Amino acid sequence: MLRSYREAYERLLPLVEKPGRYLGNERGTHPKDLQQVRLRFALAFPEVYEIAQSHLGLQILYDILNRRPDVAAERVYAPWPDLEALLRARGLPLVSLESHLSLADFHVVGFSLQYELTYTNLLTMLELGGVPLRAAARGPEHPLVIAGGPCAFNPEPLAPFLDAVVLGDGEEAVGDVCDAVLAWDGRERRDLLRALAALPGVYVPAFFTPRHHADGTLAAIEAVEPSQTTVRKRVLVDLDRFPPPEQPVVPHLGVVHDRASVEVMRGCVKGCRFCQAGYVYRPLRERNPERVVEQATELMRRTGYEELSLLSLSTGDYSGVNPVLKTLMDRFAPEHVAVSLPSTRVDALSPKILEEIRRVRKTGFTIAPEAGTQRLRDVIQKEYREEELLEAARLFADLGWRTLKLYFMIGLPSETETDVRGIAELSRRVREAASGRLRVTASVSTFVPKPHTPFQWAGQLSVEETRVRQALLRRELARHKIEFRWHDAELSYLEGIFSRGDRRLADVLETAQRRGARFDGWSDHCRMDVWRDALAEHGLEAPFYLRRRPLGEQLPWDHLDAGLSRRFLLQDLARAVEGVLTPDCSIERCTYCGACDFEAVRNIDHHLEGAKGGDHRGRGIARWAELAMPPEDDGRPAWETRAWHEIRARVAARAAARAPKPRVGAEPAAAPLAARLADGTASVDPGSGEGNAEEWLDAVPSSFTPPAPTPPAVTRVRLRYRKVGPARFIGTRELTTVFLRAARRAGLSLAFSQGHHPLPRFSFGPALPLGFSSDDEYVDLELTEHLAPEAVMTRLAAELPAGLEPRAATEVPRSAQSIESEIAAFLYEVDLGALDAPPDPAAVAAGVARFAAAEAFPVRKRSRHGERAIDARRAVRDLVVTGPQRLRLEVQVAPEGTLKPGPLLGLLLDLPSDAEPLLRVHKLATRFHGSSRDHPAAPSA
Ligand code: SF4
Repeated sequence: MLRSYREAYERLLPLVEKPGRYLGNERGTHPKDLQQVRLRFALAFPEVYEIAQSHLGLQILYDILNRRPDVAAERVYAPWPDLEALLRARGLPLVSLESHLSLADFHVVGFSLQYELTYTNLLTMLELGGVPLRAAARGPEHPLVIAGGPCAFNPEPLAPFLDAVVLGDGEEAVGDVCDAVLAWDGRERRDLLRALAALPGVYVPAFFTPRHHADGTLAAIEAVEPSQTTVRKRVLVDLDRFPPPEQPVVPHLGVVHDRASVEVMRGCVKGCRFCQAGYVYRPLRERNPERVVEQATELMRRTGYEELSLLSLSTGDYSGVNPVLKTLMDRFAPEHVAVSLPSTRVDALSPKILEEIRRVRKTGFTIAPEAGTQRLRDVIQKEYREEELLEAARLFADLGWRTLKLYFMIGLPSETETDVRGIAELSRRVREAASGRLRVTASVSTFVPKPHTPFQWAGQLSVEETRVRQALLRRELARHKIEFRWHDAELSYLEGIFSRGDRRLADVLETAQRRGARFDGWSDHCRMDVWRDALAEHGLEAPFYLRRRPLGEQLPWDHLDAGLSRRFLLQDLARAVEGVLTPDCSIERCTYCGACDFEAVRNIDHHLEGAKGGDHRGRGIARWAELAMPPEDDGRPAWETRAWHEIRARVAARAAARAPKPRVGAEPAAAPLAARLADGTASVDPGSGEGNAEEWLDAVPSSFTPPAPTPPAVTRVRLRYRKVGPARFIGTRELTTVFLRAARRAGLSLAFSQGHHPLPRFSFGPALPLGFSSDDEYVDLELTEHLAPEAVMTRLAAELPAGLEPRAATEVPRSAQSIESEIAAFLYEVDLGALDAPPDPAAVAAGVARFAAAEAFPVRKRSRHGERAIDARRAVRDLVVTGPQRLRLEVQVAPEGTLKPGPLLGLLLDLPSDAEPLLRVHKLATRFHGSSRDHPAAPSA
């Protein structure tokens, strides 16, 4: 029998800092009837909700798994230390967000490994979930514990805790894992592991045994099952086979990446030599740009987000970036929806891209020069020229940006003092190029060598060396008045140990976790003393892991094949030493890295032509792209990226040198389609198969329409709503976002304020304290078109999350006073029965009588302005006992504020100081000034 811990958790929520992390009732969740599915899959992310819920990969797997009728996928994230302490104190397990099911009750627990400093959280989650930490200790009754993500390319420090690891793309592999578990007879766990090991891309650590030399270096990693000596990563050959999730989870709580995302391409072949993702996710696979526009439009309609992100490792290099951005901005800018590119290389930035992005938002921009000197940029394969960066800075300032963050790394292979000083110098020149109009911040992290890159053999800076270089930068940047941000040297040091670590580190991890290591990626939580002791206890030393590795040394991940040949990595390292760039294989030539088989697996792009073995699908989209972005005046395609203009020019020059002289009187080359359609020399017959252009014109009418100015507000609707159930833990700040997204999904034409940062014209009544429920809350919405208030209410009701329930709506004059200024009092009911030790009813009655008899009853009220006393006898009317553990009271609203029931009752009933959050306070009614006690939007009863 499966047990839901929902009620037990609800009692804990008032006691934690952010209850919204654990509600699990967001829009887009898929709670299924767990009795009706054959397999329960916990998608686990070893970080706090705000980070975990930002991760697109998890949303993709959640969508894929829940499409299967036989599988229920639920989310489990790391509990923040406040909840962990409560769970331990009350003997409760870690549970999933949707069904509040213990981790131990799932068939599969799949962790996403994005960052080495989340490993102790993974152990904590298993421990709290009631799952044995070590794979060897698990029996047939325990969940299968698997992991995937970039850190899975060297999972050795975690190997004893994991049953299996998925290398590479998870879209298809996750289904295969489910099938293997469903086909298993549930008896011998080893049989299941064998079935998993037979799947492409699945690594079973128990089937490999490392052997070490006396000095600690690896002698060999021996395969236990002779049939499998290496494991090759899984590749999804075509991204278009898996459209983005149509209905992703839309959080109530502000998360780190609080926006809709469409992954426009996977893989990157630019070859930045420090970037693990750029190597292990090869080859390049672009999504069809036409589909991206359709999918993004549908996504925004379903989620109501105010920002759309086009995700990839370098979206400026996506061959459809220009027409996609333009089409989406034409469509969304009038609705104040921003489109962003979270990751863009300097040399991929173009005026076209920047002009589109700035149409809705121009607060700050981030770019990554990475190194301060040209010599070092050549070493790490950063292709841009300094002049390009300076030009970009001028453009940012011209287009209205005010802040610019520059990302750099220190400790890159071959770095000298000149290179470190170069960071400060380059930042200064960027600031000067923008004539002081940009506030420039240099954000500097420490280079951590990553497996499966040409720098996997490089050494890493010690903490002391890092601090010396940071001190130099602090001084130099301060001289130039550039703000300096740096990554904690100790965190990089810890990351470096585990990034290239071996299986012996598992004992260190377990010891550190047991002694309290948690959230190690957060500098205010990381406890280096615990880590130093744990390393020493197991006879291991950090410098061993951070040292430069001899090229012939066996590496802990050598049995895992990320698709990159050792020969290629060594050649690329040699090119780094010489400062020679490796060509981009999507536009120049293949350098045989090993990622492609040139049959199924190869680069897929939407260029018109390209390097050997690529699948160039540009012809399919050229027409659409030309319609979205007509050619330049000189006939050059306007939609292609800058890199493509350059390669096209080179190809054209070569072709011109080879071409025979034109015959006199030869036909001139046809003008591009968009130009011919415009001047009437071409037409498109929808029945001829040539109809795409016209269909696209119909489907994307806004592509050629300048955005209309936002119309003014014409009506103001006051909505009365309830806030009950889990919604009582949605905070005041989040409530605006929740209503805004619901209104967008409902298709309401919201009015926005004017100015640089237009805001939706919502105005809420006084904030309801977190944890209070209410029957009587109010919000005013201003709309740009007339709509019956009842229609506004009905449409919103369909889109708001559970517990936010519109009850009535009325039109109020646009000049009406704010809700807040019309309110006279609140009527509350308080349930004392939710306390751990409810007071004796006689004591409650005596307290109420004492209050009634008192002349004055001062209560301390704390706010961010300080503490003051309020006379509760004047502020509170009608404090009465209404049931065995129930009280009712009416609290007046004065210009200087109001009093919460908690402090008054705490004093009156002599409650312990930690009891106040557990009082169940429910607002029965809001009283308005004037002859009527209630607002017209309120029911007459
Ligand atoms: S095999 Fe060649 S084309 Fe394929 S990713 Fe590697 S370098 Fe590029």
